[in-house]
Amino acid sequence: MTEVVVPAVRQETILVVGGAGYIGSHMVKMLLDQGFRVVTLDNLATGHRQSVLGGDFVQGDVGDPLLLERLFTGYAFAGVMHFASHIQVGESVTDPAKYYRNNVSNTFVLLDAMRKYVVRHFIFSSSAAVYGEPLVVPITESHPKNPINPYGRSKWIIEEVLADYDLAYGLRSVCFRYFNAAGADPGGAIGECHTPETHLIPLVLMAASGRLPQVKLFGEDYDTPDGTCIRDYVHVNDLCQAHLLALERLLQGGGSAAYNLGNGGGFSVREVMAAAERVTGRKIPVVVAPRRAGDPARLVADASLAHRELGWRPQFSELEQIIRHAWQWEQKLAGVISEFGNKVR
Ligand code: UDP
Repeated sequence: MTEVVVPAVRQETILVVGGAGYIGSHMVKMLLDQGFRVVTLDNLATGHRQSVLGGDFVQGDVGDPLLLERLFTGYAFAGVMHFASHIQVGESVTDPAKYYRNNVSNTFVLLDAMRKYVVRHFIFSSSAAVYGEPLVVPITESHPKNPINPYGRSKWIIEEVLADYDLAYGLRSVCFRYFNAAGADPGGAIGECHTPETHLIPLVLMAASGRLPQVKLFGEDYDTPDGTCIRDYVHVNDLCQAHLLALERLLQGGGSAAYNLGNGGGFSVREVMAAAERVTGRKIPVVVAPRRAGDPARLVADASLAHRELGWRPQFSELEQIIRHAWQWEQKLAGVISEFGNKVR
């Protein structure tokens, strides 16, 4: 007889802004699995309704004060997690207004509602992009913050605002500086689905499944052992696990903090491609292309602060395991593209 694990029912309701997106949808699932009540707010500009596996769903914009007014009067939120942001570095350079409007201005609207309704616990998706070109690797949280594009600046602005709001309004926040989020739900229910897709692992797997004819390798003349860029890939469920720990800490009266989330080990683009060939058992067609603007040679996290302070222990730290979960999802996507409509390319 299989044992059915019933989660303890929690009284707290958590608002997940951007809960239909890649990381947000995994967070919603994990919160539900932990017995929390969850409300997802997402405008579905880039997210997918079918990725939200439970709880209440509200379609709308986080920058809409009237909608937030209705939401915050309708629910007594114990905490808010904010995943909704634009994430394409290149686009942030060509259209910074889009990034400052969504990632910064809209976040102010959310923070205003939190202040008005005295919701004091906030978890914010920040990024390794706040550091800019690293001076030292692995990167600790105290590394200077020199973002080199509007995307990174939009994240750093909010981090600084949150520090001020803590002092002035007692709003406690945890900012997570993600390195390279990757992988998918181990059960295969949800995964990554961006349009357009720009991230290495999904693109490599789309080339493996035949959804793309080939994958471009952006530069092999970097100052790294094999000449390709090194990144720190971290499983999406491990990211969510860190959010859960941070939420518990905030709910128990913990103070504001900022943490790197990465595995502390780097893999080159070539190593990722080789691992993907091992996992899929397929040859991945690769063409070498020029460097992509703004790519540092090496980005690796020192995540020891999250280990020490939150007790964070990544469960899926092996690159092949991360790719295995992403491959399971890619095979599903390749089979059910119509379910996601023409949003999938
Ligand atoms: N990359 C690549 N081909 C692609 C996409 C990415 O060679 O089609 C490289 C990119 O130049 C970087 C690494 O893969 O060195 C990770 O890029 P990604 O966009 O996944 O994440 P980022 O590090 O930019 O956040």
